[in-house]
Amino acid sequence: MADATAVKKVAIRLPDGTVREYPQGTTVREVAQDIGGRTALEALVARVNGRLVDLFYRLEEDAEIELLTPATDAGLEVLRHSTAHVMAQAVKRLFPEARLAIGPPIENGFYYDFDLPRALTPEDLERIAAEMRRIISEDYAFSRQEMDREQAIQFFRDRGESYKVEILEELDDPRPSIYQQGEFIDLCRGPHIPSTGRIKAFALRSVAGAYWRGDSHRPMLQRIYGTAFATQEELDRYLELLAEAERRDHRRLGRELDLFSFREEAPGFVFWHPKGYQLYRTLVDFSRELQEPRGYLEVSTPWIYRTTLWETSGHWQHYKDNMFLIDADGDRMGVKPMNCPGHCLLYSQKVHSYRDLPVKFAEYGPLARFEASGTLHGALRVRGMHQDDAHIFLREDQIEEQIREVLELVDAIYSAFGMAYTIKLSTRPDEYMGELETWEKAEAALVRALEAAGREYTVNPKDGAFYGPKLDFDVTDALGRKWQCATVQLDFQFPERFDLYYVDRDGSHKRPVMIHRAIMGTLERFIGILVEHFAGAFPVWLAPVQVRVLPIGSDHVAYAARVRAELANAGVRAELDDRNEKIGYKIREAQVQKVPYMLVVGGKEVEAATVAVRHRRAGDQGSMPLATFIERIRHEIDSRSLD
Ligand SMILES: [Zn+2]
Ligand SMILES: [Zn+2]
Repeated sequence: MADATAVKKVAIRLPDGTVREYPQGTTVREVAQDIGGRTALEALVARVNGRLVDLFYRLEEDAEIELLTPATDAGLEVLRHSTAHVMAQAVKRLFPEARLAIGPPIENGFYYDFDLPRALTPEDLERIAAEMRRIISEDYAFSRQEMDREQAIQFFRDRGESYKVEILEELDDPRPSIYQQGEFIDLCRGPHIPSTGRIKAFALRSVAGAYWRGDSHRPMLQRIYGTAFATQEELDRYLELLAEAERRDHRRLGRELDLFSFREEAPGFVFWHPKGYQLYRTLVDFSRELQEPRGYLEVSTPWIYRTTLWETSGHWQHYKDNMFLIDADGDRMGVKPMNCPGHCLLYSQKVHSYRDLPVKFAEYGPLARFEASGTLHGALRVRGMHQDDAHIFLREDQIEEQIREVLELVDAIYSAFGMAYTIKLSTRPDEYMGELETWEKAEAALVRALEAAGREYTVNPKDGAFYGPKLDFDVTDALGRKWQCATVQLDFQFPERFDLYYVDRDGSHKRPVMIHRAIMGTLERFIGILVEHFAGAFPVWLAPVQVRVLPIGSDHVAYAARVRAELANAGVRAELDDRNEKIGYKIREAQVQKVPYMLVVGGKEVEAATVAVRHRRAGDQGSMPLATFIERIRHEIDSRSLD
């Protein structure tokens, strides 16, 4: 017979499926020590029955547990968040009058907002980092305590932490938790790493102003950004990448290469300079060249519509806050944020037979979206945009074949930029419009198209649009950063809302399906990405200026001008640098402008009717007849060679 006083056991299931028994109340750390091995040694936190907990968490019932090291996303996030606590501790040591706001982990790091008596300087950041190193070497354990909410409010009020009091007053939790390491106490849900000594590599990056709760009527706080990694090597690699990203910043290169600019007078809109607009036109031409043979029909539809249209499309209900609205003719009008409603009206303009489908409308016209001013970022996040947008109206039985064609187009476009991509399939969300059966058919068709094309993809369950499932494409740039550009959405709702139909074989009216697709996506953003991807050194086919002709002396200018004219006749974008400058200076400047080819012409070249070819990376290519050079560069342009 069992002894009633015996300690109850709990069954702990590990990720490898083994189950071990421990006395009730055993901590996760004790389980880790019992398991042993590297993961147990490096674990910072654990997941118990799906919930993240501290290692000192006591196991009171049967559980599945997983130990998390900084090699996992969740483990790294907890490491960064705990580093934010250490930073706050250091700030409090150096500025005892500082008041704490919040300190969450963010992508690639963390921040903490402080109310401080004065603006922080770069020297302050160094002092804070030095104090953090001290706290890390002092290796304080993190401990957790729960309090009644009222007690906690009093506790933080006594300490003058008014922001924490405000957070607590709005908190639902009747027993909030506080965490302590050394003398430092913070309100936090947790979990944290076991002790400050577990932080191996961190860096403080910058200080920025941030309103409390993002509200410009509330106090302006100082936000310190930092990051932490499992090892110094990983941190160094990350900081290097950041420095490289800064060097490639499209706003900076856009200015240096004279591509585009931004003005206070038109926030969120791009001023395209001649060279930048050349780049833009090259992209649109490329898109046309691929789409026209595939039956796309380029159209241009109005950019301002009456409210009635936006009500039909559903934008009025779902998207109004992101639209620019205008009062005219005693009516409310909206500038289009998307082309779809216009294309639906265009489709309904005439009767379509089942044989006419698919109908593919492409449009590169302007769109405007009201993005909050704080989110605008150069060309990457704009209010005024153009897209390589198209809508395909098709029969249900054509979904698979049309999706395959779009996939092939995506491939043709991204490979021309040397960009790899991954595909995500987003499926039916909990709140969806339309028939379950139609959704299932559509998702199955997308999967069949992906599989027929031999594409790998991941599934994002329930992340589809309310009107249909979609494919999202993330491209990876030269720095390994991911950008979502292309999107392909299947839509059953717009045809319904706009009462679109086609006449089927038996004369009956049927609803078409609609595919919304953009491949480069927003061209402004895509060009921003390309500038950073190529660090401004575009392959020849994209380069706004492909060749610069550099006469050595004034005697050679006339010949150089003829060379430039012949290049232009051959469809090569060429410039003549006829300034009275030394040739070395002209070459350097062309290099800085990242012009792919320089043609140097002097007495010898004039005499022999040749050009001395210099490539921006490969250097001197020797002299050759102009016709030979033209043949070579034409081949490079036509094949969209990546250099
Ligand atoms: Zn915390
Ligand atoms: Zn659309």
